[in-house]
Order: sequence, then structure tokens, then C-alpha cells
Amino acid sequence: MTDQAAINTHYDAIVVGSGAGGGIAAGLLAESGKKVLLLERGQALRFADVGRDHLRNQRLSQYGHNAGPNIDGNPRTGEEGRVIRPHENGYQNNAAAFGGGTLVYAGQAWRFMPQDFQMASIYGVPEGSSLADWPIRYEDLMPYYEQAEWNIGVCGDHQHMTHLPAYEKSYPMPPLELSRKSTVFREGLQRLGWQDLPMPRLINSVPYNGRPACVHCQHCVGFACPVDAKNGTQNTMIERALASDNCTLLTGVMVRQLTVDSSGHVTGISTIDDTGNVHDFTASVVVLSGGAVETARLLLNSATTQEPNGIGNNSDQVGRHLQGHYYPGGIGLFESDLYDGFGPGAAIATCQFNHGNDGIVGGGMLADDDILLPIIFWKRSLPPDLPKWGHANKQFMRENYHRVSDIRGPVQEIPSPDGRVTIDPQVRDRYGIPVVHLSGTTHPETLRTARFMRERAKEWLQASGAVKIWSTEPELSLSGGQHQAGTCRMGDDPQSSVVDRWSKVHGHDNLFIADGSVHVTNGGFNPVLTIMALAWRTTENIIKTW
Ligand SMILES: Cc1cc2nc3c(=O)[nH]c(=O)nc-3n(C[C@H](O)[C@H](O)[C@H](O)COP(=O)(O)OP(=O)(O)OC[C@H]3O[C@@H](n4cnc5c(N)ncnc54)[C@H](O)[C@@H]3O)c2cc1C
Ligand code: SF4
Repeated sequence: MTDQAAINTHYDAIVVGSGAGGGIAAGLLAESGKKVLLLERGQALRFADVGRDHLRNQRLSQYGHNAGPNIDGNPRTGEEGRVIRPHENGYQNNAAAFGGGTLVYAGQAWRFMPQDFQMASIYGVPEGSSLADWPIRYEDLMPYYEQAEWNIGVCGDHQHMTHLPAYEKSYPMPPLELSRKSTVFREGLQRLGWQDLPMPRLINSVPYNGRPACVHCQHCVGFACPVDAKNGTQNTMIERALASDNCTLLTGVMVRQLTVDSSGHVTGISTIDDTGNVHDFTASVVVLSGGAVETARLLLNSATTQEPNGIGNNSDQVGRHLQGHYYPGGIGLFESDLYDGFGPGAAIATCQFNHGNDGIVGGGMLADDDILLPIIFWKRSLPPDLPKWGHANKQFMRENYHRVSDIRGPVQEIPSPDGRVTIDPQVRDRYGIPVVHLSGTTHPETLRTARFMRERAKEWLQASGAVKIWSTEPELSLSGGQHQAGTCRMGDDPQSSVVDRWSKVHGHDNLFIADGSVHVTNGGFNPVLTIMALAWRTTENIIKTW
């Protein structure tokens, strides 16, 4: 961290969080000439810091993880007050590092479909759910998807995206080459007559933006890239922000509260660093980009005279409608080897079932998976009738690691107002800040969609030649996690939403949110490209209306 005592305390804009949304906000604001302070609670991690530990990473956090937050001193609580550490089930972690989730993500780069913005109009509202339409449409985001694709860097083939309105511009890079596994799965899709498309990814398939092409290593999702071919905000938009000389980046600094004047107008933020030093900063504009769980926490922890339940929370909406993605799928055993060690692994997909499924609300994209770490193969992919230990288990793993593969994908979750981020009344973190309490689940309708998609995954496996197929029964659970969204939803009505259609917090003229929390629904796709596109639209509007 830079010495805080030596830096300014007033800025044009403060951005809290350096992930997908925050990186874009900081980049655009700084390039427009605004003086920006970008604050990140995590550290700037190099490839060597992130490492390649199969048991401690953001994909499988069995004994720890590799991209924050620190395991000690950063708890959350769950049902019955259970204290949960960041790498444990139920914490709903994404990452806390410079670049946020984009440092270690898989970089799947999906646009939502037009229908994803109108879920309530198309499907009606299942009883007890908070399914709603967005106040904006696909057409409003389309130009910003394109900006994200070109500025961060996506590879793919726009002509295969037949589930979307025609693209105005291609992707900047051709798709990744297919591995043996993806080729087999593409043939399966073709046998079924289903749409097949090369997966769009935020990865350099050819040299781009001054960095090299992917070398097809075997550790992509959950790890940093050894050759810097994976495109996050840390190596694109934030690099540009810093190059503009208009951006001050502080890492290892936790924003604990928003500050306000006597009228309740936001004046800036109060921070604490790893050594316990407290510093306050003021700004004309504050952009919150801490991710759906931590942004809600920050608002709820910022009670004022005018907003005693937290800023933006006079209608009790902050923290509700927590969503992510349920991932149903199937696992198949094949007669011959599929695995050829060619990373990243997931390269072929179909959007045949995202919408238009009789009697089902929504649906989801299906795809093959990134290369399985052997420990994940053991933990999640073995047939249910195989003993978990002993000779038979070892023999199966030895003989079949190259012949087992899965198909799965994110289903559109049906939100519930009870899937929630609140503040724990007792537990505090290492800085003394009240921590998040997580409760509830998504709406049960999600399970019907998940079961439907699981059957489609099995059909795809069968058509690809799997000789034995197995899967697990979907169960209703607390959502959030890596694809966390929805806790500060966007809407025109302040009674049922937290931000307006420009992501400005209702009742405030200088407080914006640029992260997954503003999503009304989370699509049947990995969400990051939508977070980036929205952040681009929000920030462009901040600059235009400054
Ligand atoms: C292993 C993994 C794989 C993934 N793969 C994909 C994929 O293929 N495709 C896809 O679409 N998505 C993927 N995701 C999800 C994707 O990374 C997230 O959707 C995205 O990063 C969320 O963006 P955000 O701006 O909402 O928040 P984040 O990117 O999470 O950024 C928030 C940042 O804010 C910081 N912060 C929070 N609170 C504070 C505070 N109070 N003070 C200071 N700093 C704070 C955090 O430390 C964090 O760095 C993956 C995530 C992981 C972990
Ligand atoms: S698969 Fe490619 S982009 Fe992913 S980490 Fe390896 S080299 Fe980097």
C-alpha cells in the first residue's frame, strides 16, 4: 500500500473495489481527466503469490484459497449464527484482490439475452418470488457489451451467437482452438441438431493489447495466468487508469463506511488499513464496486440520521434478492480418452435452452468444463456407486481420469426477497467492522429449471458418446458466491429498488453502484460481461452529466 499520509484526501471520484465494475469505472473516470482514488481491500498478487495449489484456490477452497480475503479476521455468519471463514461453504466468496474476481476467473464472456431483461413480463411472477423486469433493455446495453469486448479483450465468433440479435462488430479475436474433448462435444451437439458455438472468453487467443496469446495451460479458472493472456481489469482498464496519472490506487485498504454531511449528502468514505490506521477521504462522486455482498454490507453499515437503516435502504431493499447461479449438469464416462491436457478446457457451448422451454421459467446456457484438477475429479465427478476410498476408488481414478467429463451450466435463478445480506448484530471483523449475515435461499422455482437443464446436459452427453451418465439432484440453497448479484437492484420505483436506471442510489445525486449488485435478474449466463457493460454505461453517464 502507498503511504496514505502522503496522499491527497480529496478527489473528484472515489471508487471502492478494483474488480470487474470498479476497474472500468476507475479507468473511464481517470481517462476523462477526473482525479480518482481507487481503493481495494485485497493485495496486488503476482502469479507466484497466487500459486498453483490444488487444495487452496478460488476454484476449490478445500483448505484455503489464493485470492483473498485473508482467512483469519474476515468472517461472515450464516443460519443460526454459524461463523463462517472465507474459504468455507456458505461464505459465498468471490475474491478480494487487485482485479477482484477478474484476476482468477475463467473469463467466460457472455452477453445476457434480450429476454433476460424482461423475465416477469415473459414468464409472470412465481408466487413468493421477486422476479422482475429490468428498467433497461438489451438494446441499452448492446453498445457497452461491445466496448467491454474490445477494451478488455474477448475471443469468440460473433456469427455463431445466433441466440442474440446480430452483432454490430465482431469480437476482436478469433475463438480458442478446440481440445479433443470440446471437439467430441461439438459433434454431440451437431448430432442433436442443437446450436453449437465456440465459447466467448476474456482470453487472448492471439496476442492482443500488448500481451501474448494463451499457452493452453491446465490451471485457468481459480488461478492467475502464467503468461498474462487472461484479461481482467487489473491488466487493462486499471492499467490505463494508472497510466493516465489521474488515478491513485491503494491496496490493503478497507472502506468501512460512507461519510455524509448534516443533510445526509454523501461526502466521501472512511477507511482502515491493515495496520489499523484510519483515514477519511472526500470526493464529489462515490462509486461502490465491492461486489454484491460487500457493497450491500457497506451501505447497511453506513446508517445516518436521514437513513437510519443504512444508506439507500429506506425501503428495506438493500441486501435482498441475493442471486448467483445454480449449476446443474451431468457427468459422463466415455469409451476412449477425451482429455488431452489442452487448456483452458471449456470451449464449446449451446444456448438452445436459455428460453422458450415449455412450462419452465427461463433456462440456461450449457457448456463443457475447464480442465478438472484431479482432486476435483475425486470430490465431485465420481459415479455415486463407487466407494469414496480404497482400491476400487483408486483404480477407477487411475483408469478413467482421461475418460470422464461433464456438461453443465448456470441456470437463471428465480430471486426471492428472503435470500439476503444483513448485518450480524454481534460479530465483527479484524477491523472492528460488523460483518455480513447471510440467510434464505433463492425461490424453489429455480429447482424446476435446474432439473430441466440437468436432463438436457445428460442428453448432450449421450449424443456425444458417453457410455455411463450420472448427476446429482438439485437442492435449494443460499445463493451468491462467485456469480453474486442482485442485492441493490435497479428499478424506477424507489420502493422496490435501490438504484435507478443509471445505477445512481435513489435519493442521492453523487452515489453510484458499478458491480453485480444492481442486476435485477442474473441471466442464464456467467455475469461478468454484463457487469462490465453496465459499469461502462454507468460511468459514461457520470462523466456526461458531471
Ligand atoms: C474462480 C472464479 C471463476 C469465475 N469465472 C467467471 C467466468 O468465467 N465468467 C464470468 O462471467 N464470471 C466469472 N466469475 C465471476 C466474476 O469474477 C464476477 O462476476 C465479477 O468479478 C464480479 O464483479 P464485481 O465488480 O461485482 O466484483 P468483484 O470483481 O468481486 O470486485 C469487488 C472488489 O471489491 C473489493 N472490496 C469489497 N469491499 C471492499 C471494501 N469495503 N473496501 C475496499 N475494497 C473492497 C474486493 O476485495 C474485490 O476485489 C468467476 C469468479 C471466480 C472467483
Ligand atoms: S489456459 Fe491460457 S489464459 Fe488460462 S491461465 Fe492458462 S495460459 Fe492463461
